[in-house]
Amino acid sequence: MNRLVVMKFGGTSVEDASAILRTAGIVAGRVKKGVRPVVVVSAMARVTDLLISAANTAAHGDRASALAITERLRIRHKDAACQLAARSCGQDQPTPQDPELLATHRWMDAEFDGLDEILRGLAIVGELTPRISDMVVSYGERISSRMIAEAFLRGGISAVHVDARQCIITDAQYGKAIPQDAAIEQRLKQHVLPHLNDGRVPVMGGFIGSTEQGVTTTLGRGGSDFTAAIIGAGIDAAAIEIWTDVDGIMTADPRVCPDALRVRSISFEEAAELAYFGAKVLHPATILPAVRKNIPVFVLNSRNPDNEGTRITALAPHCRSPFKSIAVKKRLTIMDIVASRMLMSHGYLRSIFEVFDRHKCPVDMVSTSEVSVSLSLDSNEKLPAVAADLSKLADVKYEGRKALVCMVGENIRGQSGIAARVFQAVRHVNLRMISQGASEINMSFMIEEDDADEAVRSLHAEFFGDPDPEIFDVEARRSVAEA
Ligand code: ADP
Ligand code: ASP
Ligand code: MG
Repeated sequence: MNRLVVMKFGGTSVEDASAILRTAGIVAGRVKKGVRPVVVVSAMARVTDLLISAANTAAHGDRASALAITERLRIRHKDAACQLAARSCGQDQPTPQDPELLATHRWMDAEFDGLDEILRGLAIVGELTPRISDMVVSYGERISSRMIAEAFLRGGISAVHVDARQCIITDAQYGKAIPQDAAIEQRLKQHVLPHLNDGRVPVMGGFIGSTEQGVTTTLGRGGSDFTAAIIGAGIDAAAIEIWTDVDGIMTADPRVCPDALRVRSISFEEAAELAYFGAKVLHPATILPAVRKNIPVFVLNSRNPDNEGTRITALAPHCRSPFKSIAVKKRLTIMDIVASRMLMSHGYLRSIFEVFDRHKCPVDMVSTSEVSVSLSLDSNEKLPAVAADLSKLADVKYEGRKALVCMVGENIRGQSGIAARVFQAVRHVNLRMISQGASEINMSFMIEEDDADEAVRSLHAEFFGDPDPEIFDVEARRSVAEA
């Protein structure tokens, strides 16, 4: 039996016809090697953001601007389909009246007409519920996956489009729905495994799902990675590949730190910590289903497919450096809660956390003293209501535009002198909160958002100046230096 592999391609890997053809080439290469892939794709780059803004614009009553956004999206998708049709015949322009292309444009028009109908309704009702928002944003993956399946077919891959909403069954927490493993496994047996057994390549949209009753849901931003892992676990895949636009998990976000190095291998625990603390390269919940079934996950570059990428493993490989990578989470708020009368009496912390719980407001970092508690939170519209509730218990102040810098590595356990090196490297920056996680694999601190990029570069210079070649790809740095 050939190896089952889930291959997930993110927005930049399917952003236009050229990217989709590159992706088709990668999938065809795997098939040639005897792999049986299930392909999961995101919406084309930036489409989800645009759909969210169309929904908000419509709900604010500006129907014309909302429809102008979807008109541009309609043209972009139809153009991509044109180019894909032309290039599959080795031409610059598609053949006029190409019946397959006409059929593609017809279903695209039907989808966009449906979307516009919802936006018109939103403009009348003037209220955007999470359920309708999921319905609107789902169009990105619904359309991209079908278009890509058709492009694969034209390119000679025996692809078949499977609507992910038939398989990814979730609860009804719109915007962040929770997958229901047993139902998903059963649906995959029904809608995906038969295709694989017949030698076809199922192509599905990531990020989207539906309730048992068939109402569309989404798994949260960046959720296509999660879809890939859910499917991988559901069909007992031999590997899950996350194809993106960088060479793998790097020692820092390469957009912030141009000399970041590829990490050759990293543990599940380290990768989860990095993802949670802002490294956008993986969705935080992604790897849980893979960990449960001990399925290896690889992060790979669709623009540089021969690069070996990053392998995520169960156990952390031994490494000389204390850290594997530095992540940054921006747009955070620090809230200081100062007890007015009673010092930290029994039950005080519980009553504070109950307020956050009630408002479903997640807390990233906590530090306490005798009379005060400081917390870091995602900046969101719930904060004034949270603060109002808390002010019944204590004095509350909060301030936005903060960033959390988080350094992750299994090797900080039991090493002395690391904190001193960290604080020396960022001595010019005003640190607001400091924590070494209970997991003992992360050290983090809160600073002003404007200081974050500089702090990452200083820390990177301190800790990755002399990297361990077993763990980090130093060749890339050497070839850049020689060029
Ligand atoms: P995709 O569209 O493929 O899902 P994303 O934009 O979600 O891609 O994630 C890839 C991006 O994550 C990279 O372009 C990079 O800027 C960013 N990133 C942040 N931290 C890291 C890191 N430690 N390693 C690699 N990429 C990172
Ligand atoms: N398209 C979705 C997003 O932009 C999901 C994903 O790409 O992973 O959040
Ligand atoms: Mg992503």
